[in-house]
Amino acid sequence: MGQLILTCPACGKEISVPAELEEFSCVYCGAKHRLPELLPQTAPADEADRLYAEEHLLDCVRDFPNAFKHFNRKQYESFYQTHKEALTPVFEAMDRWVCAHPMQRQTFLEDFVQQFLQQWEAFHRDHPKAGSKHARDRLAFSNKLTLAWFTVPAIRGMDLSIGEDFSALLRDRFNEKYPENRFEVGSFEEIRSGFRKRWFLFGKK
Ligand SMILES: [Zn+2]
Repeated sequence: MGQLILTCPACGKEISVPAELEEFSCVYCGAKHRLPELLPQTAPADEADRLYAEEHLLDCVRDFPNAFKHFNRKQYESFYQTHKEALTPVFEAMDRWVCAHPMQRQTFLEDFVQQFLQQWEAFHRDHPKAGSKHARDRLAFSNKLTLAWFTVPAIRGMDLSIGEDFSALLRDRFNEKYPENRFEVGSFEEIRSGFRKRWFLFGKK
């Protein structure tokens, strides 16, 4: 969690507050404040975007368990659209935050990718279905498929400035960290046409 730069409503000075702190006192005048009351008025809009994006980074797997079951010719397109719609606000917020800081673009993208990996690691470590290493690996493998087949194509399909950069960086860092569970960056069109070709080759309905 980062620091928020706020203006104390009592004395007007700028104060730095840890984002996870609910209540705090101004270091200059001692006035007591509650963070949620100060946030909407004083936090810059892009800081709220960063917090929102970080908080929802893992919605792609958290809210879509067993997404791989929809990886078939009949269901792929509609499930992809549902997935993409659900994640659009998250990556739009990330895009706004990154675009508002062009000088730190690479650093901030790297921060988001590292956040993603930390949350990914914690999610699979703490998941109720991940009691053994085998179960944890299986869960991480099925969520990796969600990432490769739905999430990354969706991010790239959102027409955001970060789409390609975030996807490529996530792939690089993910594959470095989990060399036994790698994924490649694909697109919705490629995957969908794969289903069509298979249908063409095998002549199935
Ligand atoms: Zn103050």
